[in-house]
Amino acid sequence: MLAATAVFGWSRSADAFCRSTTCSGECSRNADGCKTDGEKLFWPGLCVGISLQEDGSAHIDRDIWVDIAHNAIVAWVDLDCGNGAASIHLAPAKDVVCHLSQYDPDGPNANIIMFQDTKWQYAGEDNTLAKATVSYDTETGEILDTDIELNHAYNEYTTGDDFVVYDLQSILTHELGHLMGLDHTLDYNATMNAGYQQGTTELRTPELDDIDGVCAIYPPGREGPTSCEPNGGFASECATDVEDAGCSCRTVGPSPSSLWRAGPGARKSGPQGGGFAIALALASLVALQRRRPRTDETSK
Ligand SMILES: [Zn+2]
Repeated sequence: MLAATAVFGWSRSADAFCRSTTCSGECSRNADGCKTDGEKLFWPGLCVGISLQEDGSAHIDRDIWVDIAHNAIVAWVDLDCGNGAASIHLAPAKDVVCHLSQYDPDGPNANIIMFQDTKWQYAGEDNTLAKATVSYDTETGEILDTDIELNHAYNEYTTGDDFVVYDLQSILTHELGHLMGLDHTLDYNATMNAGYQQGTTELRTPELDDIDGVCAIYPPGREGPTSCEPNGGFASECATDVEDAGCSCRTVGPSPSSLWRAGPGARKSGPQGGGFAIALALASLVALQRRRPRTDETSK
């Protein structure tokens, strides 16, 4: 599942980072393993508001979770591009009730981080650690909404610096990289590398390659809308008008963009290898037309 980006010794340029694009399915890739088809994804504004689903996880102390989420978000803020700070800001937004990864082109939305404690809805992906769903304009690559789901139904996250198994902050930091528009990179040292060595906390902050990627997408001085509000405005309440959902949030606005998969065949995260590795695979992007949502989903 990760083979395309898991080749050791693949020559690559100094800037190895990859940007996510509108291409899904079979896409051409360059020597760095980056997609060359499709429009590159980006947030047009200067700020993205991010909400936590208010229930958090039954297995993690609320205060600890809020701290971890905050740290992961802040890690991507004001990155130093050498000639100024990257022109994208991630801002904590109000918690939301809704517990769905969803984008509503006709209503308010929210970019949500949520736990799935009891059920993981993605068939055959029980061993996935997390999934980010990015909704975007298929013509321009403009990101419309991103939601991140943490699979606590099948995995036990750890939150401290000792006895680390699946480090929650590392996993969330990586997923937030997808929210920024980054795809997996072949750079072993990058947080956006597709490999995660179980037991480490090394992905808690963006590394040089990740920062280069963010600076390429959002160079210092870029102009754009300054509002941190989600597309269509911010909706924190549940609407109950969606079939099968029970409670739908015309407010929750996410789409899956990446998976972290545990299992055999996963690539080692570094040259030392050894031990059990968790692989992170860009899993799926939900493409949405500017006005008419598409429901295409692709896994790779
Ligand atoms: Zn990933």
